[in-house]
Amino acid sequence: MAQDGLEHTQTTLEELGSAPLPPVAELGSQFVVQPHPNPTSDADWQTAMNELKFGTRFSDHMAVATWTEGAGWHDHEIRPYGPIELSPAAAVLHYGQEIFEGLKAYRHEDGSIWTFRPGFNAARFNASARRMGLPEMTVEDFVGSIVAVVRKDERFVPREPGTSLYLRPFMFASEPFLGVRPAREVTYMMIASPVGPYFANGFAPVSIWVTRNYHRAGPGGTGAAKTGGNYASSLLPQEVAAERGFDQVCFLDAATNSNLEELGGMNVFVVRADGSVQTPRLTGTILEGGTRSAIIRMLRDNGTPVSEETIAIDALISDISSGEVVEMFACGTAAVVTPIGHLASDDFDVKLPQTNFSESVYNQLVSIQNGLAPDPYGWTYRIH
Ligand SMILES: *Cc1c(COP(=O)(O)O)cnc(C)c1O
Repeated sequence: MAQDGLEHTQTTLEELGSAPLPPVAELGSQFVVQPHPNPTSDADWQTAMNELKFGTRFSDHMAVATWTEGAGWHDHEIRPYGPIELSPAAAVLHYGQEIFEGLKAYRHEDGSIWTFRPGFNAARFNASARRMGLPEMTVEDFVGSIVAVVRKDERFVPREPGTSLYLRPFMFASEPFLGVRPAREVTYMMIASPVGPYFANGFAPVSIWVTRNYHRAGPGGTGAAKTGGNYASSLLPQEVAAERGFDQVCFLDAATNSNLEELGGMNVFVVRADGSVQTPRLTGTILEGGTRSAIIRMLRDNGTPVSEETIAIDALISDISSGEVVEMFACGTAAVVTPIGHLASDDFDVKLPQTNFSESVYNQLVSIQNGLAPDPYGWTYRIH
């Protein structure tokens, strides 16, 4: 037996997500394009691209498809971006039957546009769908919606380093029905937002409040699904952390209130003085991040031992105090990698030194995503 957690077995999502995708030329044609009456003018487009924030501006088009019981997925369309009509009785507004994804399209130096592991996101979308009683969709529909929108809105993929077109596929119960059962009419949409760096301060360490009073997920719950409810439940603890002057909140496991899990929307890593790296193992209450998965793979291939294990917060705090833990970072698609400089709760308050480990992880990953380094893993997928 290998040392606990060190052996590498692919997760289901990693396995499904690495299946070859159809050639891009074959994707997206099922989405019928509706003409846009007034696309963004060059002047407005220029203004928007000059002041990129996160998730405030959207490209001109969006993808829509409808699922009904019996008929399956139909009415695939690319429509002008804009408000949608929804019955006040739509089940999502009452019971939160909803899932989403987040990935990015990156422009490489030669002008071409690429996504990063869209097959992983497609597989995770379906895993989330199953957990939330929503219909699954084919990788052709999921990736096809991205290809179709990016093809139309190619000019919204920014060029500057650190920028990208953030892609947000989502699915919700649109059936007007107040009874409690999985909806028989479901809407899929994909919207796109040109974005700059997620954290305004750039690659600066964030401070983290570890909450002992709230949990984002429990055993048997929906923690491993990317669903809005998990985020809704993280908002109050996030506010509490912010009131105390901290940037982000970190959750412990609900069963014992003693093991490190993740932030509201990012996974976490611990760097030890002996050069090894740890991350909480996937227990069903943690969201399996594509960034987490990529970092584990890259580090192991670099020769860094990475273990996925139970990380007790008390042991972690004493290891930080003794210098056995030298760095921590959080990771996710939006912010990529963010060093953690300060970790506190009701009963501890520790600062973490910075050893540039997270910065080198960040550089290695971003170089692959932006086409500045070779991609030995087949993670990048050209869409334009
Ligand atoms: C999306 C998400 C992550 C990060 O996943 P990536 O695929 O790396 O973007 C981590 N935790 C939660 C709770 C999430 O929703």
